[in-house]
Amino acid sequence: MPKTAIYPGSFDPVTNGHIDLITRAARIFDKVIVAVAHNYHKKPIFTTPERVKMLKETTKGIKGVTVESFEGLVIEYAHTKKVNVLIRGLRMISDFEYEFQMALTNRRLAQDIETVFLMPSESYAFLSSTLLKEAAALGADVSQFVPKSVEKPLKERLRR
Ligand code: ADP
Repeated sequence: MPKTAIYPGSFDPVTNGHIDLITRAARIFDKVIVAVAHNYHKKPIFTTPERVKMLKETTKGIKGVTVESFEGLVIEYAHTKKVNVLIRGLRMISDFEYEFQMALTNRRLAQDIETVFLMPSESYAFLSSTLLKEAAALGADVSQFVPKSVEKPLKERLRR
């Protein structure tokens, strides 16, 4: 049986940190499903299909990676996909509390599912979509933080 993992998130938009993590996950698992959360409370600037499209474009060179979207609980989505591993990223200590709570909540809700944490390259350890959007909205050049194909849509969206 090929080993599959789901990497869930909002990816609003995908950053080089996400790509770094997907690349690492693809080295460990036969298949990695990048799963874009649809019902996201943070009011994303990109629609779900836009986020999926950007991820598909930027991960097409990474073997074993597919991109989908999902609604509702990630553990239910994982059950429907018959996958029992979730990938999450740990950047700073500050991620730890939230990720720890979420992993343990998910474990209570679904004992068969494990969360596996991966650390990005230190070059991306500070990078978040939220900060990136703030900086880009204030006119910062964010080209070193996002894939080339994301730069333009990000600038355009924030200009509105
Ligand atoms: P969410 O809002 O669900 O946390 P994100 O798209 O912000 O979704 O992040 C998805 C996952 O990717 C999270 O586990 C997050 O910690 C991780 N992540 C985000 N940015 C980075 C980065 N620069 N390096 C490593 N992991 C990251």
